Amino acid sequence: MEQQDQHSEEIRELRFQLEEAQETINAIRTGQVDALVVKDTDGHQLYTLKTADQTYRVFIEKMSEGAVTINSEGIILYCNTRFAVMANTPLEKAIGAPLASFVPDQSKTALEELIHSSWNEECRLEIILKDGGGKDMHCMFSCNTIELDGGTALSIIVTDLSLLKETEKQLQLRNEQLEESRANAEKLNNTLEATVKERTHDLVISREHFKLLTNNIVQMTWTNLPDGNVNSYNQRWYDYTGKDFEATAGLGWKELIHPDDLKMTIEKYTHSLATGEMFEVENRYKRHDGVYRWHLNRAQPLKNDKGEIIFWVGTATDIEDQKREMDRKDEFIGIASHELKTPLTSLKGYLQLIAGYKKEQLPPIITQYINKAGVSINKLQSLINDLLDVSKIKAGRLEYSLNDVNITELVNQCVENAEHVYSSYIFEKQIEGDPIVKGNNERLEQVLMNLINNAVKYSQNDKNVLITVKKNNNKARVSVTDHGIGLSQHQQTRIFERFYRVEDRKNMTSGLGMGLYISQEIISNHNGTIGVDSETGQGSTFYFELPLV
Ligand code: ADP
Repeated sequence: MEQQDQHSEEIRELRFQLEEAQETINAIRTGQVDALVVKDTDGHQLYTLKTADQTYRVFIEKMSEGAVTINSEGIILYCNTRFAVMANTPLEKAIGAPLASFVPDQSKTALEELIHSSWNEECRLEIILKDGGGKDMHCMFSCNTIELDGGTALSIIVTDLSLLKETEKQLQLRNEQLEESRANAEKLNNTLEATVKERTHDLVISREHFKLLTNNIVQMTWTNLPDGNVNSYNQRWYDYTGKDFEATAGLGWKELIHPDDLKMTIEKYTHSLATGEMFEVENRYKRHDGVYRWHLNRAQPLKNDKGEIIFWVGTATDIEDQKREMDRKDEFIGIASHELKTPLTSLKGYLQLIAGYKKEQLPPIITQYINKAGVSINKLQSLINDLLDVSKIKAGRLEYSLNDVNITELVNQCVENAEHVYSSYIFEKQIEGDPIVKGNNERLEQVLMNLINNAVKYSQNDKNVLITVKKNNNKARVSVTDHGIGLSQHQQTRIFERFYRVEDRKNMTSGLGMGLYISQEIISNHNGTIGVDSETGQGSTFYFELPLV
């Protein structure tokens, strides 16, 4: 019982001491007292803040840095609330505790050395502070000695470096990122520079390549601007014309074109510039020695991404030799067909004599042979006639007399012939009005028969052929419609050319590609037009129109 009372007494005493300590701490913090007594190994010691005043202590208390005062033993005589928070210790426990107890082992020596040196001079060092939560806090310990009544003490300002460290870390990270970006930019720049160099090199090569190419091909070449002005020629041009750039630049080339070809050339050139369509014309250019030679000119526009023409690239190919060859070929065709015509005429005559030989009855088989020979001779004759016509056209000598021609009669006559020759075909006629035109009956018959023959030849699967006659705007229009193989758009533009035939092995038939060429010549000599409407696989309608009388 007595022991219990003693314990209670001790507890009370301790509580009292604690309260007293608490009060003292508060009193110091708030500046109510200037001195305190600390119990250490040497007994009780009294410490007084020499310059203590309330403002000073309030200021210390409010500081964002930790403030610690230690005695020569390293015991904390005083610390502000901020330090207690940094050390994660209640303020009352911090005061009186050794400063080293708030420092992890690895920093202990550094702290010792710092304190040791600081008694002599002002020192600062980075020290780690245990924050109690297990996470260490990098701090700057700045030490100064201060004079207290009880002797010299060390005042230490503890600055939290974590924010600084974090900022430094961030800064370093940013620096690293910056460095990386800079390196990337440099790399990109280098690549770009290399690409530009490469492209420039490529450009130079391709320009040189183009120059080499244009200067070494046999054609003359030029480039012209969208307004038609020529801005470059290749070496061939200068060699051929004997002129320099200034003399033929812009539209200067006109002076070198044969006067007979100039109008047509200008017309086609202007048309191409206006429409962007390919320029193609045959004309004669004057050589440096004054001789004109035929050339085939072609120019294609070069367009940018927006489809606008930047310039035209043109070539002029010397076709003088081909032209001569063609002339020789035409001459040969003319002579050969003429030479063939004479024996053929006598052959035909003799065959007629044989057929008409009445003295003896001919065996039926002979009559059959004579008829067959007659058909072949007729075919041969029409072939020779076509060849003769072609050479006459070339020589500009396809001449014939003009009379009034009754188109209805002409059509009836031709259809009758066709029905006779192609008995398996059905010919339908649709005739409107009774048009009369000025023309040569035989030649117009030749044209119509040619169209009917073609309709039959190129529609082996559908044997219906329609022939119509219409009056239209003071013109008579005759057309022949079949439901045969038809023609593509491209083929339609070419079939009126001399010797042109559609190359199609499947539908290949005999022929020389002269019929439509001759027909076109005849119709244009009659001041008329000839044309075709067709679709591949659907059939064709060939027509011609002639002015009415
Ligand atoms: P060809 O003797 O070859 O028939 P043409 O001058 O009469 O000569 O015709 C030229 C080419 O036009 C022919 O080879 C053929 O390919 C084509 N052609 C003419 N008429 C027709 C038609 N009615 N249908 C389809 N193709 C045709």
